[in-house]
Amino acid sequence: MAGELRYRDPGTRIYDLATDVDVVCPRCGGRAFVLAEPVDGELELFWPRRFVCPGCGRSAFRAAGQWSCWGGPIDPYFGLPLWLRTTCCGGRTLWAFNRAHLELLEGHLAAGLRERGMAGQGMTLIARLPAWLKSARHRGEVLSALIRLRRSLD
Ligand SMILES: [Zn+2]
Repeated sequence: MAGELRYRDPGTRIYDLATDVDVVCPRCGGRAFVLAEPVDGELELFWPRRFVCPGCGRSAFRAAGQWSCWGGPIDPYFGLPLWLRTTCCGGRTLWAFNRAHLELLEGHLAAGLRERGMAGQGMTLIARLPAWLKSARHRGEVLSALIRLRRSLD
């Protein structure tokens, strides 16, 4: 359609967004964070992580290189529920690690036209989104759920 923005996959991978994850604190139920602690010469994916809760002061440390779990509505390192998760589209769970992740999804869905990822981009976040999330039928509902989630950060 004329006038709609063209969207280009920025090539972000899920790992790029996981250096700063908003989670639910297991002690007080408030908004807490899982933060990467950079290590020179090591991939972000394998950096150590620290859990910190500004609400109750709880903290935890996780050494580098341990097993992590990707692809669901939990943080990959401590397995805590994500702060940014909601149900939409007939019981599906929409989730994001943080504000940047929400904005990436919003930008993608708000653009009417979707470009296919270029060759070699099969691992990007946008290329790997589930079909229900990308379907035109769900677009309005997913967008309002994303806006709702973004408001929970302010
Ligand atoms: Zn807490």
